[in-house]
Amino acid sequence: MKNPIVHVIGAGLAGVEASYQLAKRGIHVKLYEMKKNKKSPAHKSENFAELVCSNSFRSNSLQNAAGVLKEELRILDSLVIQCADEFQVPAGSALAVDRDLFSEALTKLIRNNPMIEVIEEEVTVLPEGNVIVATGPLTSDSLFNYIKQITEEDELFFFDAAAPIIEFESIDMTKAYFKSRYDKGEATYINCPMTKQEYDLWYEELIKANCVVPKDFELKVFEGCMPFEEIARRGYQTLLFGPMKPVGLRKPDGSRPYAVVQLRQDNATASLYNIVGFQTHLTFSEQLRIIRLIPGLENANIVRYGVMHRNTYINAPKILNEYYQTKKYPQIFFAGQLSGVEGYVESVGSAMVASINMANMIHNKPFISFPVETALGSQAHYLATADPAFFQPMNANFGLFPALTQQHFKKQRKDLMAQRSLDSLKKMMEEQSIEKR
Ligand SMILES: Cc1cc2nc3c(=O)[nH]c(=O)nc-3n(C[C@H](O)[C@H](O)[C@H](O)COP(=O)(O)OP(=O)(O)OC[C@H]3O[C@@H](n4cnc5c(N)ncnc54)[C@H](O)[C@@H]3O)c2cc1C
Repeated sequence: MKNPIVHVIGAGLAGVEASYQLAKRGIHVKLYEMKKNKKSPAHKSENFAELVCSNSFRSNSLQNAAGVLKEELRILDSLVIQCADEFQVPAGSALAVDRDLFSEALTKLIRNNPMIEVIEEEVTVLPEGNVIVATGPLTSDSLFNYIKQITEEDELFFFDAAAPIIEFESIDMTKAYFKSRYDKGEATYINCPMTKQEYDLWYEELIKANCVVPKDFELKVFEGCMPFEEIARRGYQTLLFGPMKPVGLRKPDGSRPYAVVQLRQDNATASLYNIVGFQTHLTFSEQLRIIRLIPGLENANIVRYGVMHRNTYINAPKILNEYYQTKKYPQIFFAGQLSGVEGYVESVGSAMVASINMANMIHNKPFISFPVETALGSQAHYLATADPAFFQPMNANFGLFPALTQQHFKKQRKDLMAQRSLDSLKKMMEEQSIEKR
């Protein structure tokens, strides 16, 4: 095709990555961003790829799926991760950035790219032709309504509150036990029991823990859904009569705990569990600290932190295939948080897969199916195949990767999964002649 053009809507993390990947594949990009004239309630600057909350891209370690995802993106020449590496600030094993330098640099690189034309306006109707929609969790209302129409359903979820999700193998089952209340139904809940003394200590820590300050628009959204730390602040007993009530949950030795934290299975393979009733506004570091004070969760690995913010996303398994392409309109792809992924790096990852496949479609090359053993492939696979009735965005995590064929120790398992992922990505890149960084 002569002078192919792709319209990328939204210059957030996903839109910037997609634009760069398309441009380097010889495709002209029209990148639309509304911030100059209209900002979402969370965006503050006019720069692209603004980090609206934390400045952390989470772990850099290959022992963590977020670290594997970043490494895959480095291998694939991600512009966003390259800038994150360049403007990182000390943060232990995490990759955190100076948010202003990071988005200033990306804005400059995008604006100076001769293949990318920036159009500073709000898109309310998708343009004709090839489009990647990357308008994020706070997509403007008119476009939100338009997308609702073209997807012909109310599948743009208004995701208001999510409790933290924990990896099963990080739960100490010598302290926790399976049981459903009064043994009704299958014993699919994991219960972490507390004595009065344990509850008292934990309660004191919880009521003084630091929270994210909710934005005005969030207060309105969440008035009907209270975070567990707020329930706790209303009185010592409120949690004991609410999400932590111990009745019907006697321990295997027959004794009755003073309080119980319950976890509910979160995925089909039972590798992930969410904490029942623990939707929260606590900062991510405080969530980790408070959750690890719960008996049985001392080493809890949180694969998705609790969040309470507006989050617009499509019901990906109904609408998208594994290339982030809409099944109904092959010229329209989604990327970023709106496509149903969760988190900064995941948004960049979705844009990588979407833009490589959009470029292939334009160049009449076959679509690229990212191996499910990779973090990118496992995320794409999850979006395309999850049960639409229960679909929820999910951070990158090893629970989405296929299990290893042999038994290994836990630490070794993660190393092997990470190695398997990077090997299969490199093999795929060789087979598909994708340029390495
Ligand atoms: C309040 C809040 C806090 C969050 N905190 C975290 C966190 O700490 N860590 C984390 O990993 N993730 C966090 N997230 C999720 C985070 O937003 C995403 O992970 C990430 O920013 C998504 O990238 P994106 O490119 O999809 O969207 P965004 O980065 O939001 O970019 C979308 C862009 O599209 C533009 N846009 C929207 N509508 C239109 C339109 N109609 N026309 C033109 N332009 C438009 C917006 O102005 C924006 O620049 C948070 C989200 C919210 C809302």
